[in-house]
Amino acid sequence: RARWRRAVALLREFEEGCATPPARLRQVVDAMVVEMHAGLASDGGSKLKMLLTYVDALPTGNEDGIYYSIDLGGTNFRMLRVEVVAGSVVTSRKVELPIPEELTNGTIEELFSFVAMALKDFVETEDGKDDHRALGFTFSFPVKQASVSSGSLIRWTKGFSIGNAVGKDVAQCLNEALARSGLNVQVTALVNDTVGTLALGHYHDEDTVAAVIIGAGTNACYIERTDAIIKCQGLLTNSGGMVVNMEWGNFWSSHLPRTPYDISLDDETQNRNDQGFEKMISGIYLGEIARLVLHRMALESDVFGDRADNLSIPFTLSTPLLAAIREDDSPDLSEVRRILQEHMKIPDIPLKTRRLVVKVCDIVTRRAARLAAAGIVGILKKLGRDGSSMSSSGRTRGQPRRTVVAIEGGLYQGYPVFREYLDKALVEILGEEVAQTVVLRVTEDGSGVGAALLAAVHSSNR
Ligand code: ADP
Ligand code: MG
Repeated sequence: RARWRRAVALLREFEEGCATPPARLRQVVDAMVVEMHAGLASDGGSKLKMLLTYVDALPTGNEDGIYYSIDLGGTNFRMLRVEVVAGSVVTSRKVELPIPEELTNGTIEELFSFVAMALKDFVETEDGKDDHRALGFTFSFPVKQASVSSGSLIRWTKGFSIGNAVGKDVAQCLNEALARSGLNVQVTALVNDTVGTLALGHYHDEDTVAAVIIGAGTNACYIERTDAIIKCQGLLTNSGGMVVNMEWGNFWSSHLPRTPYDISLDDETQNRNDQGFEKMISGIYLGEIARLVLHRMALESDVFGDRADNLSIPFTLSTPLLAAIREDDSPDLSEVRRILQEHMKIPDIPLKTRRLVVKVCDIVTRRAARLAAAGIVGILKKLGRDGSSMSSSGRTRGQPRRTVVAIEGGLYQGYPVFREYLDKALVEILGEEVAQTVVLRVTEDGSGVGAALLAAVHSSNR
């Protein structure tokens, strides 16, 4: 009995450590705004890199032609063929391949040869060998862009670690690999996945001002006025604005609810001390946080019996499994039983212990979704669209404008409970009235289709 109490005590402690009451979320919102300003003021001014994208023109609907895009930056590698006629996307074809694990820590030439060969097969099943095509390259890692079609890798995230790639122009490396494979395709837009998502979101709805990804990792971008990008004096664009890639996964604030399990998780990763926000929110990490909690319970109590060996192996509990545990609505939690047995090799445990496991998964999910909501409100606040500065921006109260945030990613799209928690937190932070003016709009394949559209915008400009 005392040992059951120990497990419950650990649960309570974890729950308290993860607490995100509205007051705390508002502190996170304000910290996000402060860091956004700092990151825009100078390079290295904040953990938020606030990277220039050189995307100052989003697709307008006047694009035409056949474009390709590839999306590299997480679990899968995706290729798209997009045909745009008179401004509407009429056909698109998609192929998705898992990235072989060994390619995520080999050399950049090996990775890009794999990409080029796959793209060659893909292109040649559709188009003639010699047709010249523009390629949108979605590369979802922090990149210091030199132009809309070139930029060097700042560092890897999400478990990638290819030593000889940091500092290199990834578009040039890919162009070289494409040339080596004899493909007449060239990168005309090198974009972050958030930027592709924003491009497609904006294409469908002009009120779209920001984009958020919550998948394997998490990140956001938004449209900033060039005169607010202080670190780049004299930046001139036709639109007066530019998309800024926040790299918000690396956001950090003392107001974030950090637990000892977050510290253990950080220690297991290749990018220690980085991507702190991402490690509390995104798909690669949520299951692992829950596993660390369950493992400690197994060590300090007997609730999982003495055969819970798998609980000691990092990353055995994936986030889709965590989601399935949380979403099991059968009265006897039979799905939880099955997952624990099949995936974690935990023999049959009593219902009350299965409930404990569900609760752990719930706490991890809730904190993640609510922190993501706070991040979104941070962007809205920076843009003066959170309802708090309506009068100062010349708009009278009671006439709020509509704001659309494009959003995608496997976690957001595949996990309804996560979505519900996020939506609910938005209302808690913004209030019912303002929250009604904010639309989160899911873009399907936005990062890919959007990148192809940006490739179109920037190939016709040449
Ligand atoms: P990326 O484009 O970065 O590879 P995705 O947007 O495809 O990522 O999302 C993949 C991630 O989403 C996976 O890491 C996984 O953890 C998470 N995910 C996918 N499906 C689900 C689901 N049904 N429930 C919870 N998480 C999911
Ligand atoms: Mg993605």
